[in-house]
Amino acid sequence: MHDRVLDEIDRARDEIVEYTRDLVRIPTVNPPGDAYEDCARFIGDHLARHRFEVEYIAAEGRPEHTRRHPRVNVVGACRGGPGPVVHLNGHFDVVPAGSGWTVDPFGGAVRDGRIYGRGVCDMKAGIAAAVFAAIAIDRAGSDVPGTIEISGTVDEESGGFAGVAYLAERGRIKAGRTDAVIIPEPLDVDRICIGHRGVYWFEVTAHGRIAHGSMPFLGASAIDGMGRLLEAVREELLPRLAARRTAVPVVPDGARQATINVNGIDGGQPIDGIQTPCVADVCRAVFDRRFLLEEGFDATRDEVRRLVDAVAGQTPGVRFDLRDLMVVHPTRTPDDSPVIGALDASIRRVLGRAPELIASPGTYDHKHVARIAGVPHCVAYGPGELVLAHQPDESCRIDDVVNATKVIALATLDLMGAGR
Ligand SMILES: [Zn+2]
Repeated sequence: MHDRVLDEIDRARDEIVEYTRDLVRIPTVNPPGDAYEDCARFIGDHLARHRFEVEYIAAEGRPEHTRRHPRVNVVGACRGGPGPVVHLNGHFDVVPAGSGWTVDPFGGAVRDGRIYGRGVCDMKAGIAAAVFAAIAIDRAGSDVPGTIEISGTVDEESGGFAGVAYLAERGRIKAGRTDAVIIPEPLDVDRICIGHRGVYWFEVTAHGRIAHGSMPFLGASAIDGMGRLLEAVREELLPRLAARRTAVPVVPDGARQATINVNGIDGGQPIDGIQTPCVADVCRAVFDRRFLLEEGFDATRDEVRRLVDAVAGQTPGVRFDLRDLMVVHPTRTPDDSPVIGALDASIRRVLGRAPELIASPGTYDHKHVARIAGVPHCVAYGPGELVLAHQPDESCRIDDVVNATKVIALATLDLMGAGR
């Protein structure tokens, strides 16, 4: 069975390339969420021609699901025997093209063995790999012992709430129904991604007291207050964070430690407006704190709270409010998960080398599978080089797409319980 599947994938090489190029030509740019329905239909129509039952799940009730930009997901199921259900999930939204391209970002050019275009690596080549892994299993002709599901989902780049989170909330992906999930994100063809760090976005507002700018000593500057907080973050918090390293194999190495970034800052009067002499009474900043599995969210939040309180104590006349904006808990696939074992064996067979287990510096839809759906057996594995994601002239090596298709097909067979 396994050899026949690999032969079918080699035979389908040109089809896989054309399918990937067709996906790239659908400009599913997010924001705002263009052409989602076209892309869902393209994937669904193709799956329906290959023995899949297809359903479309629009994110009814979500504020971002609008008439102009409908959030439409597609899920196909190819049912064989009563064995395990393996779900292959790919997001089809792509980030805006940006500048610096030397080819049409939505043209699907092929050059020197690579396919070019926005989203080809992140992650339309991954969707192609999932789709053709399933098709090759079907074409190889033997009885399939379980069920292969493929979903194309929206909005991963903006949090995935109308996409994978929506499917999980509605029980379309859930523990008891879904046995294993593989997300073909671009993390390099010989690496298996077992999770990600946590995210804590928070907003701090400094409230001062307005006064005439010629007599600033009569007021209390919220901008100066925020400046003190930023200094405390740099001088006190940063060295502590840099000293913490996770046992989770996060790449690149700098992301093995806890980090913090200031997303934005806004204070005083608008710079472009007419200026008046005023001491700033409000200054706001948004922070992005990436925390480690070992830190946990409660300790992370408490540490921020203590820092803000300490600065407030040293800054007379300025009051600080702390508000949580978003929390994503870290995830980690269990070491003995069958999905890691199946991919490990398949990578060794297809590529002839041992895979590296890694974790992602940022989050992706894994969090919704683990936290909402409650499915622990989830990893990201797919074609495409991580460093090319979101770049100008984004591209993906055709050999990598074909190899990832083989790896995913063999791993899916193993997870469904097919004998070799
Ligand atoms: Zn992605």
